[in-house]
Amino acid sequence: MIYFDSAATTLQKPPQVAQAVQRAIRTCASVGRGGHPAAMAAAETVYGCREAAAKLFDAEVEQVAFTMNATHALNIAIRTLVPEGAKVVISGFEHNAVTRPLHALGADITVAGRRLFSATDTLWAFDEATRVRPAAVICTHVSNVFGYVLPIKEIAALCRSRNIPLIIDAAQSAGVLPVSLRESGARFIAMPGHKGLYGPQGTGLLLCADGGEPLLYGGTGSNSEEQDMPEFLPDRLEAGTHNVCGIAGLREGIRFVTRQTTQRIFDHEQALLCHLQRLLRGQAGLELFCGDGQSGVLSFRVRGMDCETAAEKLAQQQIAVRAGLHCAPYAHESAGTLHSGTVRASFSAFNTHREVEQFASACKKLFRP
Ligand code: PLP
Repeated sequence: MIYFDSAATTLQKPPQVAQAVQRAIRTCASVGRGGHPAAMAAAETVYGCREAAAKLFDAEVEQVAFTMNATHALNIAIRTLVPEGAKVVISGFEHNAVTRPLHALGADITVAGRRLFSATDTLWAFDEATRVRPAAVICTHVSNVFGYVLPIKEIAALCRSRNIPLIIDAAQSAGVLPVSLRESGARFIAMPGHKGLYGPQGTGLLLCADGGEPLLYGGTGSNSEEQDMPEFLPDRLEAGTHNVCGIAGLREGIRFVTRQTTQRIFDHEQALLCHLQRLLRGQAGLELFCGDGQSGVLSFRVRGMDCETAAEKLAQQQIAVRAGLHCAPYAHESAGTLHSGTVRASFSAFNTHREVEQFASACKKLFRP
C-alpha cells in the first residue's frame, strides 16, 4: 500500500516504537503508584518521554503534560484561557478541535485571515483583529487541509507585544518544523503524538508555559491527602493512570525525530511535494491547491468527480489518501471548497519518490477527463 495519509496519523513508524510498546506492556505498571520495580520502570519511561519532548520543543520537563491527543490538549488550553462568551481570535484555517470547544463555550470568535498561502494577509488580519484585546489568540501552525504554513513567529511576536495569550495548534508541525515553547512565548502549544512524532494513537502533548486548569479531576499519586488537584505541573493536568505503553512508543518516536532532525524530515517531505506538484501540474481535470509556504500536504479536486469517489478509486489501487472536509470546515470555507471538500495526499519521513511517481501515474489513469 502507498500510504499518503500521514496528516491524519502516521502509519509507518520507526520499528523501535512498536518494540517499546511491547516492552512497556510486559514490564511497566503505573507512575507514582508504588516504589516497586514495575512502577519505577513506568516512571522512568514516562519521565524519559517528557525529557525528550522538553528537549525537542525547548521547554522545561515539568512544562510537558501528557494528553490523549491534540484535541484533549487544545480543550485544556481553551478551558484555561477562554471564559464563556469571551472574545477570541482564530485563523481562517482552524480544525474542529479548536472551533468546537469554542462554540461550546459560546465564544465570540473573530476569524483572522482567510486567504490561502498569503502570510501577508494572515498577518495583517491578526494585527487588525487583536486590537480588541481578545481573551486569547488560537492559531494552527500548519493547515491540515492545505499544508499552508502560517507565519506563527510573527503572530507570536504580535501576541507578545499586545500581551495576549497565544495557543498554538502544532498538530501538523510537531516533528516537521521547529516548535519552541520558550522562543514563541506561547501560553500553550498542543500536539498529537500519533502524527509527525510517530507515536501510537492515544498520545498527545500539551506544552504549558505556566500552569493550566484541569479538564479531569482524580488521582495523581501526589498530594493525595488534598481534595484539590495539585497546583504544580504536570500533575495538575494529568489525572488518572497514564497511557504508559503509548508514551513508551512516543518516546521512541520523538527520539527518531530528534535523530533525523525536523529540518531533514521537512526537506524530505518538501522534495516529495515538489516532485508530486511537477508530475501533476498541468494534468487536465485536476485542480491542485499549491502556494508559497506549503508543508508536505497537497489537496486537490477532480473535475466532474466528488472527492469521496476519487479517494475510493485510489484506495482500489492500494493508495490511501483522505477525502472530504478533514474536520476543518473553516479552512474549506476560507479556500472556497466547503461545498466539495478536497482529496488530500500527505507525506511522512517514510514515503519515497517512487511512491510519488506511482501515485501520479494512478491519478493520470483514473482521473483523465
Ligand atoms: N488540529 C489539527 C490542525 C489537526 O490536523 C488535528 C488532527 O487531524 C487535530 C487538531 C486533532 O488531533 P487529534 O486527532 O490528535 O486530537
